[in-house]
Amino acid sequence: MNNKRISSSFGIKRRNLLYLLLGLSGSLGMGSCSQLSAETSKNEGETNLYDTVIIGGGISGLTAAFLLKEKNILVLEKETSLGGRIVSGEWEGFHYPKGTEYIGEPEGESAQLFSQLGLKAIKMPPPTDAIAYQGSIHHGKNILDFIDEDTQEDYWRLEEELSKLNDRIEDDLFSGLGDRNVTPLKQFAGYDGQTMAEWLKQLDIDPVIQQYIDIENRGLFGAANNELSVLFNIPEMAYNLPDPEEANESEVYTFSRGIYELVEVLAQRLAKKVVTGAKVSQVEVNEEEEVTVSYEREGKEVLVKAKTVILSTPAPISDRLVTQGFSSKVKNALKSIQYAEYVTVNLFLRDRLWKDAWTLSCLDDFFVTLYDAIRTQVDISYNGKAVLGVYIAAKDAKDRSLLKMSDGEIVDRVLKDLEKYYPDIRSQVLGQDIQRFPYAFPAFSRDYTKVLEVLYTDEMLQNSPLFLAGDYLVYATLDGAIASGFQAAESVNEYITEN
Ligand SMILES: Cc1cc2nc3c(=O)[nH]c(=O)nc-3n(C[C@H](O)[C@H](O)[C@H](O)COP(=O)(O)OP(=O)(O)OC[C@H]3O[C@@H](n4cnc5c(N)ncnc54)[C@H](O)[C@@H]3O)c2cc1C
Repeated sequence: MNNKRISSSFGIKRRNLLYLLLGLSGSLGMGSCSQLSAETSKNEGETNLYDTVIIGGGISGLTAAFLLKEKNILVLEKETSLGGRIVSGEWEGFHYPKGTEYIGEPEGESAQLFSQLGLKAIKMPPPTDAIAYQGSIHHGKNILDFIDEDTQEDYWRLEEELSKLNDRIEDDLFSGLGDRNVTPLKQFAGYDGQTMAEWLKQLDIDPVIQQYIDIENRGLFGAANNELSVLFNIPEMAYNLPDPEEANESEVYTFSRGIYELVEVLAQRLAKKVVTGAKVSQVEVNEEEEVTVSYEREGKEVLVKAKTVILSTPAPISDRLVTQGFSSKVKNALKSIQYAEYVTVNLFLRDRLWKDAWTLSCLDDFFVTLYDAIRTQVDISYNGKAVLGVYIAAKDAKDRSLLKMSDGEIVDRVLKDLEKYYPDIRSQVLGQDIQRFPYAFPAFSRDYTKVLEVLYTDEMLQNSPLFLAGDYLVYATLDGAIASGFQAAESVNEYITEN
């Protein structure tokens, strides 16, 4: 149910599920997100040797590109717009997210990046959370309002256990991951051998609370309790179990035109160095340690050469692209990372259906979260046309049925469940925007420290002109992806200086 995420640079702060786009008046000079068009590099296809080619224009690749912008670089993005999983749309003047919605209070690498870009994050106004359970929406309530006293005892026992463990791991583990430091991986490997489901069972936590955490995990990571390493889940869940005293707080941030503003600003800064609509098909390192990147654009095959390449594509794609240059250990590690599917639907409505809370956690529906996408764009009393965000997780990271559903089936399931809360919903819907994510979230599964250890220490990779970036190297959030972009840029700088 996607309510809260751990915050930037993994100093871990409570976050609520919020996505915020302030002010209709703050309209963009450069058009809507999906309109960022390809800027054909004049060097495309020339024999020019780039310092760095960056494959993938998601936030990890764009961060690395921005930090390396003084060099001769080229970003290749297969889609016609940049941003990857940061994607948004516009309807009747409203901006709405289709992927990433919000961030925690900017810290660490994220804070550094925003400051260098002149971006200021804005705090989402409370109140934030509500809960949908057994066909009713409960504003200003949380799971504690629906469970009996015995179950509440389990809840508090779990909360205590989570915060105790979280105190031990939060600083050491996550700051270490940002720096690709293996010491904390080894230090905490013990916790990594168990799934969240096993751990909750061992603690004898009531099944209702287990279900609640499962839905939280599906909403946040597209994965179920029995798929996630307890080590990587503890920090998130330590901040996800609601404390009634904090119900009216919001520690969630965005930019004035939404999270996508970050992509727009980066796109402006990198304009001449980016080629969109460029699908990379192969990456090869030759004996002189030069890298050849092949990509297809407008039906033509283009080859470019580079001293270094950053692969900021999802792990299995990075594995497939590199035909020469990765050790088998690295290839196996990349292959082993399972990605969850996810779908979001934004419904364009005749009237604003709810506004007392920004996000609604849904315990027993097809969708895991609903949110009022216009919460920061209109006055609280506004009742006109509105956008309702509907986030739909698969059953677990292995479930491949979600993306097989047709648009019609998805919308029908959504409306069927929404009818429980709003019987006349079908007559309210003026249109919709569906976004599908085949690589929505890398699952930080049991023994993930072993995967990371290979990717952080593989000798061939350490001495190679190929570099990795992406959320799967740190944490499955925007902050994790930004931290990985910093790390990749730093490694490229070192490599170029030394070679
Ligand atoms: C629905 C959803 C909601 C989310 N909400 C939040 C949130 O609220 N807060 C938060 O912190 N995180 C959130 N996340 C997670 C966050 O979006 C990701 O962690 C982050 O955006 C990952 O960035 P990335 O650069 O690692 O990967 P991506 O954004 O996936 O970038 C990879 C890029 O590579 C490109 N590419 C792939 N193959 C090729 C190829 N062959 N050639 C060229 N280019 C290629 C892709 O098109 C893409 O642009 C959410 C994710 C999803 C799916």
